[in-house]
Amino acid sequence: MRVGVLALQGDFAEHMQMLLQLRVDAVEVKLPSDLTGLDALIMPGGESTTFAKLAERFALMPPLRDFIKSGKPTWGTCAGLIFMATDVGRDQPTLGVMDIKVKRNAFGRQVDSFISPVRIAGLADPYEAIFIRAPLIESVGPDVEVMATLPDGAIVAARQGNMLVTSFHPELTRDNRVHSLFLKF
Ligand code: GLN
Repeated sequence: MRVGVLALQGDFAEHMQMLLQLRVDAVEVKLPSDLTGLDALIMPGGESTTFAKLAERFALMPPLRDFIKSGKPTWGTCAGLIFMATDVGRDQPTLGVMDIKVKRNAFGRQVDSFISPVRIAGLADPYEAIFIRAPLIESVGPDVEVMATLPDGAIVAARQGNMLVTSFHPELTRDNRVHSLFLKF
């Protein structure tokens, strides 16, 4: 299995590391041609506005949309989630492939980062999730399945067909259960 990680900016190296640990071929995606032959794609944490600027500069927006619409499993963590959303509540270019309404920086600034146990659909035991300037999902469309919420009800993970989004960062932990779950999509 070959899994691409969008490598324009952000913590793509940590995702690559996790994939290698799981004995999966991990490929950096910087140019449209890097998508050839991939079985799945991950978009990391980072800064979603920067993703959009660089993806536009490297003519990556249409090929990324085509890749996702072809049905190949695609996962966005944090900034990657924002980059996939149809509605981010402001005028910011996104891929617009996942039917979710997102609130960016919903929990405050960098210093307000936190770790919280969450229950994720498909995982038997609670998961310690890391939130860094994280977005939350305010609402989801009819085809979207909510996969995790915080105790106050905030949606922090969701799935729509071949697409997974998490507002937290499994790539920054030693727990590979969410990566394993995604690789079974
Ligand atoms: N706040 C960032 C954004 O809006 C996301 C932060 C992250 O990926 N940790 O893109």
